[in-house]
Amino acid sequence: MTLETKTYRGRFAPSPSGPLHFGSLVAALGSYLDARRNRGDWLVRMEDLDPPREKPGAADDILHTLEAFGFEWDGEILFQSQRLNVYQEALRALEKQRIAYTCSCSRKEINQAGLKGLEGPRYPGTCRKGLPVERPGQAVRLRTDDRPVRFHDFVCGPIEQRLESQIGDFLIRRSDGLFAYQLAVVVDDAYQGISHIVRGADLLLSTPRQIYLQQLMALPTPSYGHLPLVLNAQGRKLSKQDGALPVRKEAPLPALIAALNFLRQPLPPEPPINLEEFWDWALSHWDIRHLRAESYDNVHQLG
Ligand code: GLU
Repeated sequence: MTLETKTYRGRFAPSPSGPLHFGSLVAALGSYLDARRNRGDWLVRMEDLDPPREKPGAADDILHTLEAFGFEWDGEILFQSQRLNVYQEALRALEKQRIAYTCSCSRKEINQAGLKGLEGPRYPGTCRKGLPVERPGQAVRLRTDDRPVRFHDFVCGPIEQRLESQIGDFLIRRSDGLFAYQLAVVVDDAYQGISHIVRGADLLLSTPRQIYLQQLMALPTPSYGHLPLVLNAQGRKLSKQDGALPVRKEAPLPALIAALNFLRQPLPPEPPINLEEFWDWALSHWDIRHLRAESYDNVHQLG
């Protein structure tokens, strides 16, 4: 449990690239229990910004699954696909500050530059000084610097990252014209007044980029807590694109109990007979400090 506060507003922000699987159930459950235990709101935002990666019907399916599992969200669901003009405005403001710039480099060119970052090849800064005249560019990057970005993750502890040397100038609009997750998530977390973000540790590396964007856009920085990642037998993060098995709407209790156990929470002595019993137990016992054990390494093997 984080500090009890009346202003807690948490959220769950799935991408509709497939049905809810065990990894996303863990993120939903952790964010929900932490919000409710702190008497906070819990919002759902559909991050449907990337049509090529979306599966038809997945957004509805995710919402129906959450409902069948007994999650209760506050307010209307926000769909990112309906907010493109807001992201466009944010992008324009960053361009005006001359901190965002158009980029025409291909992935191949970036790979060939041979710079390494924490998330693969690092952008060498080719277009920082303007595009070569003969090349059109749709992609927009954000200029980074090497001042350390620091935050205290309420699960993982102190985190520090230097964006320029560890990540590089990153995309806020992709070459296919779609807005990047990093931009949209920052705009929307602020728009929805989110105070606490509880999500999977795969996004721990993204958080400094988001804090940097918040600073540039004069937006508040929420508190962050990153949950252990659910890995498949090959040691990779469960992902919808990899065909991770969905949780079954017809059998919420076993999946919820498994997710609670994965989050290192105490389990009821007897299996709950219905959802109400499960939620009563889970809400009255939730303590995020169980995830802060010394041996905790952000990454846990599933079963
Ligand atoms: N939409 C992202 C995902 O499904 C999560 C974004 C977030 O929680 O910040 O991986």
